[in-house]
Amino acid sequence: MRPFSYTRATEANAAAKQVSADKGAKFLAGGTNLLDLMKEGVENPSALVDISRLTLAQIKTTSRGVSIGALGKNSDTANHPLIRKNYPLLTQAILAGASAQLRNMATNGGNLMQRTRCPYFYDVAMPCNKREPGTGCGALEGINRMHAVFGWSEKCVAVYPSDMSIALAALDAVVKVKDASGAERSIAFADFHRLPGDRPEIDNNLRPGELITAIEIPKNNFAGNSYYLKVRDRASYAFALVSVAAALEMNGKKIKTARIAMGGVAHKPWRAFEAEKMLAGKEATEANFKQAAEAEMRNAKPLEHNKFKVELGNRGIVRALQMAMNGGAA
Ligand SMILES: Cc1cc2nc3c(=O)[nH]c(=O)nc-3n(C[C@H](O)[C@H](O)[C@H](O)COP(=O)(O)OP(=O)(O)OC[C@H]3O[C@@H](n4cnc5c(N)ncnc54)[C@H](O)[C@@H]3O)c2cc1C
Ligand code: SF4
Repeated sequence: MRPFSYTRATEANAAAKQVSADKGAKFLAGGTNLLDLMKEGVENPSALVDISRLTLAQIKTTSRGVSIGALGKNSDTANHPLIRKNYPLLTQAILAGASAQLRNMATNGGNLMQRTRCPYFYDVAMPCNKREPGTGCGALEGINRMHAVFGWSEKCVAVYPSDMSIALAALDAVVKVKDASGAERSIAFADFHRLPGDRPEIDNNLRPGELITAIEIPKNNFAGNSYYLKVRDRASYAFALVSVAAALEMNGKKIKTARIAMGGVAHKPWRAFEAEKMLAGKEATEANFKQAAEAEMRNAKPLEHNKFKVELGNRGIVRALQMAMNGGAA
């Protein structure tokens, strides 16, 4: 174990100041990801700034929709009456992740920031550009069954593991952040996580020392017709092979707006814009769902061991849309 300092923050600005002043410092929230990575020697922070006691856990309605505190626990968020009633897609996605014990510890901000589950990233004896830039990508020519089919680069083919974030992407959420000076900014969910490009070590567009304070979800008319589908190797405690968050706003028999985001397929939540475009104004029939799925998945570029994800993605989109049409409540 490498030595590190530990401080418990009592105020958000001071926490952001501490982390921005020390390149090796990290925020500690629930610790369910960061502490595992430290035990494996993948992350070696020089300082932990414990933010878990900051009063940033509130879930409340705003004029725009709902605001979810970054330090709210995943379980409290999933089970909050406001979320269950108005954003059941988010409830379903959170409950599809991890275990009850983990969700009781894991925070909303930490969930967004969790790192890839690529086994080469976790194995410090293997090359990995994300863990150690310039060492190569073990998965590109290795075992890449769990890896990306969209948006990958020669430098990294990892996928982003969060379930919660896939629903937030479909719901066009906004991430509220604060820096060391106390200045706040909002990041559209689509711009929060990154594709790997030449810098796979950078997972997202948060600036050094910036603290996530809340996640806002705008009002929408999706609550009656949304569904989160997660396909995985076993029924519990496993990350998605492919997941699909589907939300429909109907106008009679026709689809007014479709929102579809996919997990397990890219380095960030993957918005299925091609499928969404194809569905706008169409009737909600199986034939149209299939056409939309094919429009999206025809752009997939599978690796040697994950060609099955293309068909799984096709079927997953169709199934999630069917469940959404049937009112797939949480
Ligand atoms: C066995 C196991 C199974 C799991 N299965 C799933 C699954 O199926 N689906 C799924 O989605 N997740 C799964 N998870 C991941 C789990 O959801 C995450 O570990 C958890 O959400 C992280 O939250 P945390 O508060 O514990 O973060 P921490 O571990 O405390 O922090 C994670 C990272 O976020 C940063 N951070 C935390 N809060 C903030 C903030 N407010 N602002 C800026 N940076 C911040 C930290 O510095 C750190 O880098 C699993 C985890 C385990 C251990
Ligand atoms: S896919 Fe990314 S995380 Fe996995 S070994 Fe390659 S560089 Fe590392």
